[in-house]
Amino acid sequence: MNAPQDAQSLAPAAPDASAEQRRAALLAGLARILPDAAILWKSEDTVPYECDGLAAYRQVPDAVVLPDTEDQVCEVLRLCHTLGVPVVPRGSGTSLSGGAMPIAGGLVLSLAKFKRIVELDPRSRTAVVQPGVRNLAISEAAAPYNLYYAPDPSSQIACSIGGNVSENSGGVHCLKYGLTVHNVLRVRGVTMEGDVVVFGSEAPDAPGLDLLAAVIGSEGMLAVVTEVTVRLIPKPQLAQVIMASFDDVEKGGNAVADVIAAGIIPAGLEMMDRPATAAVEEFVHAGYDVEAAAILLCESDGTPEEVAEEIERMSEVLRASGATRITVSQSEAERLRFWSGRKNAFPAAGRISPDYYCMDGTIPRKHIGTLLKRIEQMELKYGLRCINVFHAGDGNMHPLILFNGEDQDEWHRAELFGADILESCVELGGTVTGEHGVGVEKLNSMCVQFSPSEREAFFGVKAAFDPARLLNPDKAIPTLARCAEYGKMHVRRGLLPHPDLPRF
Ligand SMILES: Cc1cc2nc3c(=O)[nH]c(=O)nc-3n(C[C@H](O)[C@H](O)[C@H](O)COP(=O)(O)OP(=O)(O)OC[C@H]3O[C@@H](n4cnc5c(N)ncnc54)[C@H](O)[C@@H]3O)c2cc1C
Repeated sequence: MNAPQDAQSLAPAAPDASAEQRRAALLAGLARILPDAAILWKSEDTVPYECDGLAAYRQVPDAVVLPDTEDQVCEVLRLCHTLGVPVVPRGSGTSLSGGAMPIAGGLVLSLAKFKRIVELDPRSRTAVVQPGVRNLAISEAAAPYNLYYAPDPSSQIACSIGGNVSENSGGVHCLKYGLTVHNVLRVRGVTMEGDVVVFGSEAPDAPGLDLLAAVIGSEGMLAVVTEVTVRLIPKPQLAQVIMASFDDVEKGGNAVADVIAAGIIPAGLEMMDRPATAAVEEFVHAGYDVEAAAILLCESDGTPEEVAEEIERMSEVLRASGATRITVSQSEAERLRFWSGRKNAFPAAGRISPDYYCMDGTIPRKHIGTLLKRIEQMELKYGLRCINVFHAGDGNMHPLILFNGEDQDEWHRAELFGADILESCVELGGTVTGEHGVGVEKLNSMCVQFSPSEREAFFGVKAAFDPARLLNPDKAIPTLARCAEYGKMHVRRGLLPHPDLPRF
């Protein structure tokens, strides 16, 4: 893939004497803080860090560090603050929005060595974990106590809890059990100036301003997370999942709203269209109905009695909404097989196309059908295929636009296609963000969603934590100049966005 075409301040700085001197000072300073093995600076060592899961955007960092104590993190940040070196924190690098992509002339601070589960207390149903612990590893550690950590991104075998906190990640079971922000009690972190800060508390309330929700989802721009206390919940006695088939995607979309309107909150409510089920079926043989235009997966969990009653009620609603076939998992193995298809949908897309561009926007559930129809029309407009697999219950859409990254024109069309989808989300009363963050990917779309004064308020929060703007700068919040430039380029339906903004 080629370098980004339109990222904010992402062009590599021309090598000059002062940049070289700064790099030399950085490496000398790092050598005083960390052992040699924890500092990567040769290009063959730093290139693997040039991107995250959004591989279309790349930038090799000046150096990568792998500290293993909080004191080292503090010292590294103080050094970079003194030298004016931008720092990008990194967990497992699975972000799909370029949040962990390095900054030119900057340092990547990897938390990969922070892998310890510090404490797991079944009595308080909490776990204190280091940020590099994988999401799934928390549930694995809690399993002997019949507990688990509910938010389950599809990337949970790889992604870190530090990354989850920074992206406020979601997953299949978040409809009923909440997102990361609802399952984290306390976060410990370090500011760019090297000060340790604690957000939230293990008690039901914390003293001072409630800043926990501000740091969760802040995309590594406010503090480097060094410890997280998560809530654990009891494993349900039973879970069963319905696979409901529809002969029309719009009917499937409307059925999602009907289930919720009937007063049911399923443990998971996911939707996949036919191109998605076809790709997945070839890959994992999940047992999907590949004849259906779309399928819904609706899970119920609880006691056996609760599950039996809810499955019955959900089946009735789904039939009334036009389901042509209802299959209920009859064993735990079958339930896991149905979910394994959903959880492997992204890699399955990778098998049928050289590249895919995963979008992530949210809309009111009642508009799912409308958006799916619009996406069908956009496929014709941009001459690219798109497959849909998403957290339908949350209205969180994940259209996967298929393209060939070797072809510049295809990539350009994929970007325009993606922006069009996100703007439709805004138009339908939703947001350009779902659960994958803004990163560098959605900077332009943020201009469409937020007014200049709202974006200034976001910068105000950033400045309160990081006045020098060195911690993951140029991510998530677009500058006024960028939005004006985007507005100048981007006339939609004859209307210029934010006509009040000065054009440069
Ligand atoms: C196949 C696939 C499926 C996915 N499915 C889902 C899904 O279902 N739901 C979902 O929400 N996401 C999903 N994602 C996206 C991604 O896995 C999540 O955003 C995840 O939380 C990123 O975690 P990470 O450890 O890889 O973080 P990274 O990619 O390393 O970083 C992500 C962001 O967090 C910051 N960061 C990381 N660690 C820290 C830290 N310790 N302190 C401060 N900032 C930090 C980085 O600077 C960056 O801005 C998926 C990704 C893939 C590749």
